[in-house]
Amino acid sequence: MAAPLLSSLTEPGGDRPDALTVAGRACSREDLLGAAGAVAARIAGAPVAAVRATPTLETVAAVVGGLLAGVPVVPLPPDSGPAERDHILRDSGAALLLGGEDGDGGQAEPVPVDLTERAAWSEPEPEPDATAFILYTSGTTGAPKGALISRRAVAADLDGLADAWAWTAEDTLVHGLPLFHVHGLVLGVLGALRTGSRLVHTGRPTPEAYAAAGGSLYFGVPTVWGRVVRDESAARALSGARLLVSGSAPLPAPVFRGLERLTGRRPVERYGMTETLITVAARADGDRRPGYVGTPLPGIRTRVVAEDGADIGELEVSGPTLFDGYLNRPDATAASYAADGWFRTGDIAAIEPDGSHRIVGRASTDMIKSGGYRIGAGEVENALLDHPAVREAAVVGAPHEDLGQEIVAYVVADGVGEQDLIDFVAGQLSVHKRPRKVRFLEALPRNAMGKPQKKLLPPA
Ligand code: ATP
Ligand code: MG
Repeated sequence: MAAPLLSSLTEPGGDRPDALTVAGRACSREDLLGAAGAVAARIAGAPVAAVRATPTLETVAAVVGGLLAGVPVVPLPPDSGPAERDHILRDSGAALLLGGEDGDGGQAEPVPVDLTERAAWSEPEPEPDATAFILYTSGTTGAPKGALISRRAVAADLDGLADAWAWTAEDTLVHGLPLFHVHGLVLGVLGALRTGSRLVHTGRPTPEAYAAAGGSLYFGVPTVWGRVVRDESAARALSGARLLVSGSAPLPAPVFRGLERLTGRRPVERYGMTETLITVAARADGDRRPGYVGTPLPGIRTRVVAEDGADIGELEVSGPTLFDGYLNRPDATAASYAADGWFRTGDIAAIEPDGSHRIVGRASTDMIKSGGYRIGAGEVENALLDHPAVREAAVVGAPHEDLGQEIVAYVVADGVGEQDLIDFVAGQLSVHKRPRKVRFLEALPRNAMGKPQKKLLPPA
């Protein structure tokens, strides 16, 4: 049985003055606990509280305050427009917006968070089954859904990651990811608090800031690692780090190899989603290969449900890190479980005989059926990215009369033509995997986590 979620925060030795640094400001764990206690005292008894999740120490104090008081926390993207904000506040029922200012909370009452305030909070921790967070999914495939995440799930996930990555109080974790998703918030903040490691949040995830931070453990998403690889001096500065972790979206093989070449470190990939937290990760002492996201965390089971003898199929997960359903969405909740209670990820994967997982892509957008073949968009994207002129690539299946779907590639590239790229892919993959059309864009549509938003691509 895992220790309570916040138990490590109250352990002795919380007085290191720079235990947490966020966007250039530092505080000790003791300071954080005092400020979080003041938040807890203010919101105790509320059914739920939203937090305007700016990359600040105040956000960390607000989140920990909610967890102390047992008030489910709903992180709100700080730059969400009124429509997204009102959807999240209304759907979650949050009447309070911690760290909000007059006018930016819509219907919710803004509650200030002051880092210099102190209150000792002595209530016992809520039960492990209590909801810690309502985390909204990224909205890649539809409207964001509020996933109910228990304290037990968070604690189990963090303990699994600490085991996989040998993550301890000796580490300094560096990242600059948004604080309203699993990756930046659950792993990137609570992971540091639970393991006792130092946290340096760089405000923004730039190569220069990562290079200057001197961490042992770095978190990033593939777009961040792509920028690091293009900034050679920043990349070389990371050669002292113990682990460079990538997740949230597929890490292109050329970026994997670039990191290895420049830092002398093979990146560690991890896979997960809002609903399951992180379920699969390469281990610090294990094998790391481009395209592979590792093995299940302790206590997690996975299986691939494949049609008619195929070796790839939908990945299903069971174990202690699973969510407790979507808020207000019994239909979507029911649809996400198989008959025997395993969670259906909606992602297509393969599991190698050695247990290593390869994520092919999303069933809804990354599996192309063309001329009777099933083609993973990621394989074609990686082939395009191997061309020196191509900086970004997204591949989709567009409706086609004869083929069912035809492969269309969207690229960000200079000095190369459509036919060159079609021929280049044909030279590397089987003929039926080459794109029939290539469209050139200034940039790919991406969300705050750098995930490509394929539904926003222009028509082929
Ligand atoms: P929505 O569910 O609202 O459509 P979303 O699925 O993008 O949005 P998240 O829960 O933030 O929301 O993202 C989880 C998804 O991200 C996974 O289902 C998977 O498709 C993708 N993903 C996460 N990690 C990896 C990885 N290492 N490699 C490939 N894909 C990944
Ligand atoms: Mg999803």
